[in-house]
Amino acid sequence: MTVALFTHSACLRHEMGEGHPECPDRLRVVLRALEHPDFAALLREEAPVASREDLLRAHTPAYVDHILGLNPGPDELIALDGDTLVGPGSIEAVLRAAGGAVAAVGAVLDGWARAAFVAVRPPGHHAEAARSMGFCLFSNAAIAALVARVRVGRVAVVDFDVHHGNGTAAILAGREGMFYASSHQFPCYPGTGANPALRPGGIDVPLRPGTGSAAFRAAYSDVLLPALDRFAPELLIISAGFDAHKADPLAQLRLETSDFAWVTAELMRIADRHAAGRVVSILEGGYDLPALAASTAAHVRTLLRL
Ligand SMILES: [Zn+2]
Repeated sequence: MTVALFTHSACLRHEMGEGHPECPDRLRVVLRALEHPDFAALLREEAPVASREDLLRAHTPAYVDHILGLNPGPDELIALDGDTLVGPGSIEAVLRAAGGAVAAVGAVLDGWARAAFVAVRPPGHHAEAARSMGFCLFSNAAIAALVARVRVGRVAVVDFDVHHGNGTAAILAGREGMFYASSHQFPCYPGTGANPALRPGGIDVPLRPGTGSAAFRAAYSDVLLPALDRFAPELLIISAGFDAHKADPLAQLRLETSDFAWVTAELMRIADRHAAGRVVSILEGGYDLPALAASTAAHVRTLLRL
């Protein structure tokens, strides 16, 4: 099975200041883990920059122009909100992050890759149509889903990041042929996704702080996976955040590294059934560096069916 890896060195040059958890070392440890011989078969591709047209599928023209017009000086950091800043390397990074997600959709729908992993930063799932939020500027997964939706009838985004993807949920809500499913800690940032029910356009599965492997797997097996199976996606996009790991400093779920392999395999089973195995996975959060590296490796190994 051919799996593509989209990344770009520009994503290492987005810096939000000393001590910020969403730091370049996150991507460095992920890319180092993917240097292991297990990953020799990955087709390695440079993430292109996203077009303005693709950004506009998910974001307002005024917001896109505001972000693209930012031009911080060599040592300048511009704060967009309480958590998200823009430095000199940031704009190319956000364009490569969204562009990598779009290119991965193209690779999978064109058929030269069965699956793709997009190793980029900043993450995207908190960014809303007209504002940055929670380390995110553009909604990489929503943009990818909307690009895909032009070509296929039903696109699902499954988000196992420990935080609810409020941005992806809001951008995709009410759009025909779209399904957004999220498992996340609640209560937790950003405070959305509290209602454990099927809503129009998707499903939220809130998990109490302290939830471990068994209850996480049960929530997928009993609730999220059956709903996804009924939707029968023709392309599956994963918002792959690894901050539900028990070692992560930003939340209190208790997942093991092996749970990320398990959930990936379960999602691939549904993609095999309905989507000819087509999966595009995009890196979101994950802030304990060793756990992030190990969990990403377990996820990509599973995508490769190793
Ligand atoms: Zn997160």
